[in-house]
Amino acid sequence: MDKKELFQRMRTFPKVDLHRHLEGSISPDTLVRIASKYGGELPACTVEGLRPYIHMTAELPGFSAFLQKFQVYRGFYTCREAIEYAAYTAVMEAALDAVKYLELRYSPTHFAGPNRFRESDVIEWINAAIKKASEVCDIIVIPVLTISRDFGRGLAEKTVRYVSRLKPGPFYGLDIAGNEAVNSARPFSDLFALAKKSGLHLTIHAGEACGPLNVLEAVTVFKAERIGHGVRSVEDPALMALLREKRILLELCLTSNVHTGVVPSLGAHPIRRLMEAGVPVSINTDDPAISDITLSGEYVAAVTHLGFTESELKAVNLEALDHAFHPDKENLKRRLAHFWK
Ligand SMILES: [Zn+2]
Repeated sequence: MDKKELFQRMRTFPKVDLHRHLEGSISPDTLVRIASKYGGELPACTVEGLRPYIHMTAELPGFSAFLQKFQVYRGFYTCREAIEYAAYTAVMEAALDAVKYLELRYSPTHFAGPNRFRESDVIEWINAAIKKASEVCDIIVIPVLTISRDFGRGLAEKTVRYVSRLKPGPFYGLDIAGNEAVNSARPFSDLFALAKKSGLHLTIHAGEACGPLNVLEAVTVFKAERIGHGVRSVEDPALMALLREKRILLELCLTSNVHTGVVPSLGAHPIRRLMEAGVPVSINTDDPAISDITLSGEYVAAVTHLGFTESELKAVNLEALDHAFHPDKENLKRRLAHFWK
């Protein structure tokens, strides 16, 4: 199969994405359309002009540079319609890429911007847009709440306390993102406990900018059920054994890990070593607009750089489905598992 045929095959291959940020899913093209319709300040007014501000490149990797890209978006959204459009488009693009089940995570604080909107409104708008798009585009999507280490504990606490009072939903899981090298997750530990008590699943970004100790802490202290990235778990055989025993899934994101400088190249990604150690893994996008990728493209990379077969990709999808935060997982499996049998 040549590259073009492989890409076409992967474009229609049914896929699960458990780790995708709405913030990082808005392409330069969508940004320009939003700005022309609803206003909003951007560093450039054309798609080509915006690309360097949004896209990462493998030639200039780095965790801080990666996080810096999100500054373009924060405070950009001027009205409800702009936010709804962004959320709707992100879901539609996933569906067009044959993603069948998507856990789309976002930080209401990011979209609310500095004093522009109430987070409760933002949550209502985004979740309604996600629901509408998922119905129209035939994709199952659930929202996961993200809090950021970098926005400080005060804002995170306000968000988690508000969401914990709402039942059922509007979120099915809690995630903490941001720079783990600068801000520890420890000050947020009581918020993880609160979220879990209110019925939210827990995933924590760890073992990406920092080493395996952060993954160990996320699992044993904070009781995370999945780990965002966790790629550096490969450095510690005892940790890999623990992840295998406890069935903790690593939400791996191949190109993103290259762009943040965690791994030097796609071919050097340790996904296979983690799988050989029995660690549950999934393949995800993280921030498709920042990395300028699709999940199909990530599958092509898994095949061409890491020798994945279709049966291995099917197994990865079934594993992901098994670790979904969907509130009716058995029903979800009944609806989707046939794709990968
Ligand atoms: Zn992430």
